Amino acid sequence: MVNNYLKKIKEFYHQYLNLRSLRVRIFLIVLVVGIIPSVAMRYGIMRNYEQRAVELRTETVRNQLKVIADHLISADYFNSNGSDVVNAELEMLSNLYDGRVQIISGNLRVIRDTYGISEGKTIISEEVIKCFMGDSLSNYDDQNRYIEMTIPIIDNQNVSAEEVTGGNTAPGGVKQPDSRVKGVMLTSISTDYIEDTMEILSRKAMILEALMIMAIVVIALLLCIVLTRPFERVTKAIGEVKEGYSNESISVPDLAETEHIVEAFNQLLQRMKVLDDSRQEFVSNVSHELKTPLTSMKVLADSLLVQEDAPPELYQEFMEDIVSEIDRENRIITDLLTLVKMDKKVSALNIASLNINDLTELILKRLRPLARKKDVEVVFESVRPVTAEVDEVKMTLVMSNLVENAIKYNKEHGWVKVVLDADHQYFTFEVSDSGIGIPEDSLAQIYERFYRVDKSHSREIGGTGLGLAITKSAVLMHRGSITVTSTEGEGSTFLVKVPLNYIAQ
Ligand code: ADP
Repeated sequence: MVNNYLKKIKEFYHQYLNLRSLRVRIFLIVLVVGIIPSVAMRYGIMRNYEQRAVELRTETVRNQLKVIADHLISADYFNSNGSDVVNAELEMLSNLYDGRVQIISGNLRVIRDTYGISEGKTIISEEVIKCFMGDSLSNYDDQNRYIEMTIPIIDNQNVSAEEVTGGNTAPGGVKQPDSRVKGVMLTSISTDYIEDTMEILSRKAMILEALMIMAIVVIALLLCIVLTRPFERVTKAIGEVKEGYSNESISVPDLAETEHIVEAFNQLLQRMKVLDDSRQEFVSNVSHELKTPLTSMKVLADSLLVQEDAPPELYQEFMEDIVSEIDRENRIITDLLTLVKMDKKVSALNIASLNINDLTELILKRLRPLARKKDVEVVFESVRPVTAEVDEVKMTLVMSNLVENAIKYNKEHGWVKVVLDADHQYFTFEVSDSGIGIPEDSLAQIYERFYRVDKSHSREIGGTGLGLAITKSAVLMHRGSITVTSTEGEGSTFLVKVPLNYIAQ
């Protein structure tokens, strides 16, 4: 019960929380790609709106202040101790924009404050002094929610010629007070209205954003499910083959990727089928081959048993036949064991640097008695001395199998020629004979286990049908190659090519 629960949690984790899962990755990517722009857009729009609203408000108030500044000059405000009309205008402006306007005269004294608290005081601030030089400044304080601006009150009516042309920059680049500036308007207006609008806007944008995020989550979920479903189908189909419900090729054509995976899997399945078939065939071949000598022995023994007084010569003859069948059985088993050992990956090669000329001489010496029996002449042509990194036992098998075949499948008074040569990379071992040759349609099969062109002939001369299979396997283990050319009735040539230096995998 608890185990089941744990298994389900584990499954859930692997399917929905594991970062290595494609499904989780697609979900997160779509989520991030969808959410980041929507958040950035909201932030961008809000900032843009704020900037624009502050600019607009600053511009509107500045224009109005400029008009009032003109009125201040025309009403001779500084010399006539104020003007009711202008004061009313100032009052109206500060009420309208929820702000404060201070008029500062040339000696930096506040002569009018719509709040009525700073009149008569002196203000020495950087902005005011800069404004007396003719610069009109504005500054937005978003923390305390106000815009502060300074507007110079310029008297353009009583301008001297020097003032018009000379400007207000003294030699050396230091700015001098502009004598046309009769005073400064220091104004601060509240931006509560902008902030309020922004709050409303932000609330709406957040609702919209939440809706968008919800939609993105749904899209991400759908996408990750839809896009990974074909992979689940592949796993399921492979699972069915693995469990043994089906042995047929599978097909999941939903995505190009799944198609590729399935194609590779089907090829593997095909290869496994071939291997399985060849294993079955091998087993049935082995049984058959092992049974044949046994059957002969039984026939021989039975026929002796049924003859009550069989002469001793017959016993002698039949016993010799039985011994030769036992020898055959033995040979088959030895060859089979050699093959099985080669098939195992663990059968590591025992590589050593060997003089191949000496090895060939030794093999030919061992096989000469067999050649003599058939009156076959064996010639060895060593083109150059060859030293190579090989496994002595396996290379001996290769060479003796080829030379033995060349002798066995030869004609009376025939010849066998062995040529040993090398270049800077490979050595070649060529065995030609003047024998019976191999029919063209059998050439591709001679390396197969138990394949024999002429079964009875091969059996007669003691063949097991495993020699060339062993030879090819040993050559491939040395990363070499074996090829054959043959003309029926004229002879065959086997060519083995092996690297001088062993190439480890
Ligand atoms: P076997 O033990 O029967 O010789 P092999 O695997 O060595 O088995 O060879 C397979 C078959 O290939 C042989 O039965 C024979 O028919 C053919 N063969 C091999 N070598 C030669 C050759 N030099 N000349 C003609 N036939 C050959």
